[in-house]
Amino acid sequence: MDVACRECHSLHEASVQTCPVCGSSSLSDDWAGCVIVAHPNQSDVAGTMNVTQLGTYALKVR
Ligand SMILES: [Zn+2]
Repeated sequence: MDVACRECHSLHEASVQTCPVCGSSSLSDDWAGCVIVAHPNQSDVAGTMNVTQLGTYALKVR
């Protein structure tokens, strides 16, 4: 969980080349905040961030 996707804010191992969630290659190791989304349809945070899949997401990605 070392890089965050700039497109969907999901967090991934630093070894990934593209985001497994949305396919973007725009990954950043400069991110802040971490939220685990376990129930996307029931989470206010997920709604705010347009998260639709389970996973770990960064609140801010630079
Ligand atoms: Zn992504």
